[in-house]
Amino acid sequence: MPSTKKIEEILKYIKEYSPEQNEFYQAVEEVLESLHPLLNQESKYLEHNILERIVVPERSIIFRVTWVDDAGKIHVNVGYRVQFNSTIGPYKGGLRFHPTVSLGTVKFLGFEQIFKNALTGLQIGGAKGGSNFNPKGKSDNEIMKFCQAFMTELYKHIGQHKDVPAGDIGVGAREIGYLFGQYKRLTGEFEGVLTGKGLNWGGSLARKEATGYGSVYFAENFLNAYGKTLKGKRCAVSGSGNVAIYTIEKLYEMGAIPVSCSDSRGTIYHEKGIDIKRLKTIKEIHHSSLEEYATVDCDCLYTPVSKYPKDGHAVWHIACDVAFPSATQNELTLTDAKALKKSGCILVNEGANMPTTPDAYEFIKENDILFSPGKAANAGGVATSQLEMSQNASMAQWSFEEVDTKLKTIMKNIFTTAYETSKEFDCEGDLVMGANIAGFRKVADSMIEQGAV
Ligand code: NAP
Repeated sequence: MPSTKKIEEILKYIKEYSPEQNEFYQAVEEVLESLHPLLNQESKYLEHNILERIVVPERSIIFRVTWVDDAGKIHVNVGYRVQFNSTIGPYKGGLRFHPTVSLGTVKFLGFEQIFKNALTGLQIGGAKGGSNFNPKGKSDNEIMKFCQAFMTELYKHIGQHKDVPAGDIGVGAREIGYLFGQYKRLTGEFEGVLTGKGLNWGGSLARKEATGYGSVYFAENFLNAYGKTLKGKRCAVSGSGNVAIYTIEKLYEMGAIPVSCSDSRGTIYHEKGIDIKRLKTIKEIHHSSLEEYATVDCDCLYTPVSKYPKDGHAVWHIACDVAFPSATQNELTLTDAKALKKSGCILVNEGANMPTTPDAYEFIKENDILFSPGKAANAGGVATSQLEMSQNASMAQWSFEEVDTKLKTIMKNIFTTAYETSKEFDCEGDLVMGANIAGFRKVADSMIEQGAV
């Protein structure tokens, strides 16, 4: 059967078995559509029904999380862990706490994670989890209570050789600490069951910085392939969380000028460059809105969401050479892509997961703007998580420089793999195709070798 028909059948099938999961369909469609050249060249993947198998998670765990707030009121949230694919290693992928989280969100992220983890060259399978819990406005005690309640169910399904969760949106060092403490209390075991841990109890230096730094290393590799560099480039960055902050920090180290950041309430444009110290204080210490950035004497411009362009986001309407979407999914629309083209942007480098809408991506491709897909460009976080697991297993702690050097090498290897694969299939520079085919091929070949399980 030709691959086109097969892919159509599978997209129809996932809509039937998993209704109302638009983000998941979007992620699956993007991956499957880019596999045509491989599927047409190699019949074994269709013969072994790999496509049908790879789009269904090995296991989806959905559970109730009951917790009590500071006023004594009882709340209920839904917890998820989707263990998508363990063919090449134990499940690995973050936990997201955000009110928009649903089974479809976790499935889209878990599906992407399979190929991202394969691309790192490390032995880790794909998973993701989270809850529709909203950490905003909660006291420290309430966050702890929620994390303890969440882990009281999750601990039954995870373990250092089985499934090792990490952070994602709404889950940072504080939450990982509370989750780890509860896991240890329930099991009586001190083991490397989570990554992103504190440095005093098994964490890795440079893990906090890894996704942002890795994203910038990836962009530099991509530009170098075309005889260019980040030095002197004006960069628009969205988000102001973990990925965005360390993207901005590394951009300065590379001699670039990061001129923006954003959050769910607005965008900052600072022409002479984002004040990284001020940004870290607002987001890592005060946990407050970016409005605060503009209140202290500042020659910057703050645009609230209510003033964003129709169907777009202010951050992509700032003139830039390189764009680093680093907040959330579908945050760069067709309107935004057109604005980036107009301002002369030469590369869109995805720090977040699936931040570019499908129509925006088509426009970017048609207009010859370079494009780094998230599953390759933001893989530095999960790769460094695996380095944390290695350090835990050997009871060692490597220096910051040692971890950063390994991260740099891993990002270079991911770029080379995606780029060489794009060349192999006559689409030089199409890293969506290159990354998807390379990640898929590694997992699919391993699935065939392991039989029908
Ligand atoms: P984070 O620290 O929680 O920061 C998320 C940022 O995005 C915040 O600035 C947040 O604004 C903004 N944001 C969230 N939802 C938004 C929405 N619906 N509209 C506008 N802005 C929104 O999370 P993160 O770890 O940086 O993750 C950012 C992205 O990178 C996600 O796509 C994540 O899956 C991906 N990623 C993260 C890692 C990692 O190691 N952390 C690794 C790979 C990929 P507020 O502060 O106002 O909420």
